[in-house]
Amino acid sequence: MAVPASFGATMGEPSPTGRFGEFGGRFVPESLIAACKELEGAFRSAWGDPGFRGEYARLLRDYAGRPTPVTECRRLSDRLGVRVLLKREDLTHTGSHKINNVVGQGLLARTMGKRRLVAETGAGQHGVATATAAALFGLECVIYMGTVDVRRQELNVFRMNLLGAEVRAVDSGSRTLKDAINEAMRDWVATVETTHYCLGSVMGPHPYPWMVRELQRVIGDEARSQCREVLDGADPDVVLACVGGGSNAAGTFAGFVDTRVDLVGVEAAGGAAIGRGVPGVVHGMRSQLLQDEDGQVVEAHSISAGLDYPGVGPEHAYLAEVGRARYVEAGDQEVLDALRLLSETEGIIPALEPAHALAYLIRAAGGEIPTGSTVLVTLSGRGDKDAAEVMELLR
Ligand SMILES: *Cc1c(COP(=O)(O)O)cnc(C)c1O
Repeated sequence: MAVPASFGATMGEPSPTGRFGEFGGRFVPESLIAACKELEGAFRSAWGDPGFRGEYARLLRDYAGRPTPVTECRRLSDRLGVRVLLKREDLTHTGSHKINNVVGQGLLARTMGKRRLVAETGAGQHGVATATAAALFGLECVIYMGTVDVRRQELNVFRMNLLGAEVRAVDSGSRTLKDAINEAMRDWVATVETTHYCLGSVMGPHPYPWMVRELQRVIGDEARSQCREVLDGADPDVVLACVGGGSNAAGTFAGFVDTRVDLVGVEAAGGAAIGRGVPGVVHGMRSQLLQDEDGQVVEAHSISAGLDYPGVGPEHAYLAEVGRARYVEAGDQEVLDALRLLSETEGIIPALEPAHALAYLIRAAGGEIPTGSTVLVTLSGRGDKDAAEVMELLR
């Protein structure tokens, strides 16, 4: 296994302006600079406060169901010739890693004296997660969602309503996720005194990429010590996670970045911002973006709505540039095959997003990932939400 070029990178704090190398930053209107600075200060002091940390840890344990286990996959390992361990974020309350982020931001909002959460959502998963946290903390909640997505994701709209949130349909632009993000930011500008913007991944202006990675770091920190228990003190050879905005991958990588582990992010082939993007500025950050020849941000397409984002968190763009992590792609058909294989061999139906990481594992086992390697895969969520869609696709 090649030793990563920048072995020793830390995933610590970004520069004072929120930069990871040339990526990141805070590209927002003047009216939002103060809000971002207030949030950065509040998060920094909360994160350094044992009282806040203790309360957050307690909620992750008693409400979200942490720690999640690491599961050894004996039958899948036999099939692939590599030893496969899964970090089971699918077993959390609400069924994905998103709960780690929203419980942290909800607690922070309450600490800051805000009484209202706004958020964007594409497929509805982050909207449901935010509405969950809002209910937990007794906060008002408004979720922005493109009209196209509102129509496609009726059930999630109903879930958000049940949880007491208002869903506002966004009828501008392509009427999908990137338009919902713009509207949520517009709301935040107008209401910042009372409102916290609960952003859903390691993207957007500083401090979000850093803050959301820190709130997801629990995945990697737990996994590292759980792996050492299973592997007699050793680390896995390879760590795999799917990358949409990149939060489950960032949280996972943070636990292993100071080791010699081969860190691999798996993007959807139709949303491969690192694999096929170019540097640009969108949604308050500089990162790798899918753009057309005129510099317009293009829509991402994949079977998994959670990976349908044309950008990626700036820290991933940086980790790719310095060579500390590598990024690969998985296509729709191999993702469906992977979902079926894990279901049949282990009795675990994964969400479509982490099925991308499994698809790469299946393709690379015995090749880029040598036979006999030990591989940890973050299973970011469970497959229930995708069952109807997968049924159509496999029919
Ligand atoms: C939202 C989601 C993702 C993509 O988000 P990241 O920020 O890239 O982690 C991945 N897996 C599941 C199950 C999700 O719900």
